Amino acid sequence: MSDGVGDLRTDVAHGARIYDYILGGKDNYAVDRAAAEASQQVWPALPVHMRANREFMHRAARFLTTECGIDQFLDIGTGIPTRPNLHEVVQEVKPEARVVYTDNDPIVLAHARALMAQNGRGRTAYVDADLRDPDTILNSPEFRETLDPSRPIGLMLIAVVHFIEDDDEALDVVRRIVDVLPSGSYVAATIATDEYAPELLAEVRRAYREHGETLKFRSRTTAQRFFDGLDVVDPGLVQMHKWRPDDLESLNVPEADIAMYAAIARKP
Ligand code: SAH
Repeated sequence: MSDGVGDLRTDVAHGARIYDYILGGKDNYAVDRAAAEASQQVWPALPVHMRANREFMHRAARFLTTECGIDQFLDIGTGIPTRPNLHEVVQEVKPEARVVYTDNDPIVLAHARALMAQNGRGRTAYVDADLRDPDTILNSPEFRETLDPSRPIGLMLIAVVHFIEDDDEALDVVRRIVDVLPSGSYVAATIATDEYAPELLAEVRRAYREHGETLKFRSRTTAQRFFDGLDVVDPGLVQMHKWRPDDLESLNVPEADIAMYAAIARKP
């Protein structure tokens, strides 16, 4: 199917659209819903897990703006707009905050204008690019003109590195981006793991694969490597619902329902 912004590929499931469906959005197709339903059949926690991911993004964004003084962000793997989006969270604290969004899915590009709709003094921009090609992101006019490279940047990698299957490649592209960020920058990431429900998540991976989408789960040891050379802030790399929860109730979620590690780290 051609829509003028790229090939939406409605014959295979896309991570962005599965996530949109589970979060209650309308930007998904039958194949995405089928992948989501098949995954939920084997792992009913999928919505709990995905909502916990989105909530971590909100907490991370607030933490970086209020506690770390970050007011400019590079968000890679942005997803289909779901309010509040990153710029809405950070501009509530710092109205002048700037966000550069990046995603490689044409459906996200199609929504870029809505994503960037905003009031206030801040700025947002959108780069249609792939995390596996950091140079395109870093050399884009949107990145260069929106963010000040001499001041700390918050790099958001929320639920995206699991779409890159090869560990060395995933670690390398993240490293190449972190390398150009100034000292005092932060990285916030959620990294998929099957360590808390290995059998069920093997079935989820199979369901994704059967519908044409990739999922790579990583061990704690591998997840930790994304933060090599950085100062990981308390409480370290933990299951994402345990990262500075807003309320104690969220800790009642069973460990087997959460398939992501999360951490935030500062570049020294
Ligand atoms: N970060 C958002 C959305 C996560 S969904 C959140 O956590 O709420 C994952 C997003 O990553 C999807 O929109 C998908 O299109 C995007 N994505 C997957 N692989 C990517 C890649 N190699 N480069 C850029 N974006 C990618």
